[in-house]
Amino acid sequence: MTLVLRNVRPWGGDATDVTLDGGVITAVGPAASEGAAPAGSASEGATVVEGRGRILLPSFSDVHVHLDSTRLGLPFRPHTGGPGVWNMMLNDRHNWRGAEASVAERATLTLGAMIERGTTRVRSYAQVDVDAGLERLEGVLAAREAHRDRADVAVIAFPQAGLLREPGSAEVLEEALRLGADVVGGIDPCALDRDPARHLDIVFGLAEKYSVPVDIHLHEPGQLGLFSAQLILERTKALGMQGLVTISHGYGLADLPAGQLHELIEEMGALDVSMATIAPAGAPLPLQQLAAAGVRVGLGQDGQRDYWSPYGNADMLDRAWQLAFTSKFRADELIEHCVAVATIGGSSVIDPRTRRLASVADRPGLAVGDPAELVLVEGDTVTAAVMDRLPGRTVIHRGRVVADRLQLV
Ligand SMILES: [Zn+2]
Repeated sequence: MTLVLRNVRPWGGDATDVTLDGGVITAVGPAASEGAAPAGSASEGATVVEGRGRILLPSFSDVHVHLDSTRLGLPFRPHTGGPGVWNMMLNDRHNWRGAEASVAERATLTLGAMIERGTTRVRSYAQVDVDAGLERLEGVLAAREAHRDRADVAVIAFPQAGLLREPGSAEVLEEALRLGADVVGGIDPCALDRDPARHLDIVFGLAEKYSVPVDIHLHEPGQLGLFSAQLILERTKALGMQGLVTISHGYGLADLPAGQLHELIEEMGALDVSMATIAPAGAPLPLQQLAAAGVRVGLGQDGQRDYWSPYGNADMLDRAWQLAFTSKFRADELIEHCVAVATIGGSSVIDPRTRRLASVADRPGLAVGDPAELVLVEGDTVTAAVMDRLPGRTVIHRGRVVADRLQLV
């Protein structure tokens, strides 16, 4: 099926037409059907989508989202978590089964809302531990199935409660991989499990056994975070896992002296270890330095209005604003780089074989041959679109319109 996006502005540039076929962009330039049929109608075998001068972007990629914990769409619930990862985990554990809807229902609703706002590439966590077993993973897999024609979703089996504190944790993580989780997760190997080598050996051992990538939540500060990151890099190198390891958060980077930070980032670039950020209020990632070292960086919503946090609203354009804001960016090039991170940056984290950002000025993903994973947004420029975050969006997955004006189609 051929789809023509008429009168669109790729990355906010000059207006043109973009033709999609077979799930990829096949032409950029005036489409043949001059004066063709109105929006949504078929014309000479091609369906025309009226861009009305909107900006064309690669679709958003959310690479750090906890679909298994979302409460978006449910009645608002005051926050009850205590300080620290373990207390927050316990708060979630004590409450999640009492939610007004099942994990599958909640994850399906939230994933739908994400697609409606322009996200078609997702890498979501599913918590697996001795309390939840595989229940939450099964909920996320059900949401993926419900939206299988609207978005590509990879699932990370995530040991939120650590691997060493509760007997049976490593076994349930392995079961999750047997059930079909795509990525193996880890978390704070020093601060949570207090035995970093054992924690990481389990995670990387499972990665090797099941041939899956690794994604590790690293909230640890300063030198502790650096130590854990170095252990992760050592294992990446020893196992030849270049391109297959992601450090999420990496809050500790913000505390490091310039020399140590530079050395770590260069090493990450050399081993092709990627990073995922949620654009936190403190500890912003050094985006320019990471881009200069060729480190792939993606963006995510994290938990969304869940037992951990009331933030998150399924809108990656909103989160791109937050990334720009927390990075204290004002220059258009840097704000637009945040959109590049939220789109192509993320897709290159999920799949290292796809296009990646060469610099903060790079705006790839909309050339002939690129995947037809696209979103149309309103705005004079990309920066203006980030500031205004207007609702007039059209979302395309595998060359088909899957959502329009914040509604699934
Ligand atoms: Zn997270």
